[in-house]
Amino acid sequence: MAYIINDDCIACGACAEGCPVDAISEGDGKYVIDADTCIDCGACAEACPVAAPQAQ
Ligand code: SF4
Ligand code: SF4
Repeated sequence: MAYIINDDCIACGACAEGCPVDAISEGDGKYVIDADTCIDCGACAEACPVAAPQAQ
């Protein structure tokens, strides 16, 4: 299962820089994770200041 970024995201971009497979991109007002690319490593959750990426 992939991680999903919830609405707490403040679009800081820290998660995208740390994703090892480049699965995160800037969306409309927040960042989004490509579920087909995500390898479920959890790095985005650790990097996020507001805990927006959530394991599903
Ligand atoms: Fe990228 Fe890992 Fe976050 Fe998936 S869990 S989006 S692979 S940093
Ligand atoms: Fe959004 Fe958190 Fe990623 Fe920053 S690190 S863009 S707040 S999900």
